[in-house]
Amino acid sequence: MTPVTAESDLTIPIRVTGSRTARRRYVPTMPASDSEVVAAMRVNGALDLDDHQPDETFEWQKAAAKNQLGVDVDAIAELQTRLFAERRRAVLIVLQAMDAGGKDGVIRSVLTGINPAGITVHSFGVPTEEEAEHDFLWRHHVRCPRRGIIGVFNRSHYEAVLVERVKELVAPEVWRPRYAHIRDFERALTGAGTTVVKLHLNVSYEEQGRRLQDRIDTPEEQWKFRLGDLDDRKLWTAYREAYTDALRETSTADAAWYVVPGDPKWVRNLAVAKILRQTLEQLDPQYPEPEADLTGLKVT
Ligand code: AMP
Ligand code: MG
Repeated sequence: MTPVTAESDLTIPIRVTGSRTARRRYVPTMPASDSEVVAAMRVNGALDLDDHQPDETFEWQKAAAKNQLGVDVDAIAELQTRLFAERRRAVLIVLQAMDAGGKDGVIRSVLTGINPAGITVHSFGVPTEEEAEHDFLWRHHVRCPRRGIIGVFNRSHYEAVLVERVKELVAPEVWRPRYAHIRDFERALTGAGTTVVKLHLNVSYEEQGRRLQDRIDTPEEQWKFRLGDLDDRKLWTAYREAYTDALRETSTADAAWYVVPGDPKWVRNLAVAKILRQTLEQLDPQYPEPEADLTGLKVT
């Protein structure tokens, strides 16, 4: 699958606002529909991460967001029940973000209400010795969701072109060909009935600083903090570059990336819910036919 390079017809018009850095901002001329907002987050080949503001609100109102999230979560739960009953297809959600970017928060807030029997969540950390002795996709492939299941990767195979590149754990000759390997891998998943939805939670440098400081200052949060998080923070610019390349190289028609505003948590959660709901609605899973005509059958 080649990356989507053309401006897709889903792309909504974006007006350039006259800031010093001439960043483009999402300025809807009228309240945008959910599908327009989802399209605005979707990555095409021409990605510039600066086009995606971490504090974007899509003109949503915070006061109404909680209710809206509830409505979307209910819809997702119903669609998941159908996906589970149908047992023909799967969904893989890939979550990538910098430390404190909200990956755990999304899982907690958006995937709540889903029948736990129909979901798997796996967090990928530093590869174990056994994992490191295999090809980089091995540990991920075996964790992909089976039919009927929504699988979540909290960090993913993309770390192989993010942390491994930025911290120079492998040489460019090793990480560069991985974009193609990832595209092929995801195409194989798609071909086997797994829809791959990839979410980059786009938190700003300033907001990450506040959240890490919070973790340090709050005893109940300290367990989330590692001194190494500060080393990664120092490499922020290199990570931005690596994210940009990864998203550009691997956002395909069948396995798209979405850049989700990461700073206001309520926007982030609602945006993820909208993406997931739309993805499931497009799949439109159906309850299977009963094995026989049950009309009039009485349990005795
Ligand atoms: P966290 O998700 O913050 O609990 O931490 C997981 C850690 O594992 C992060 O620091 C990641 O950078 C690291 N990690 C994940 N995948 C890899 C990988 N393929 N190689 C090296 N480090 C990794
Ligand atoms: Mg961490």
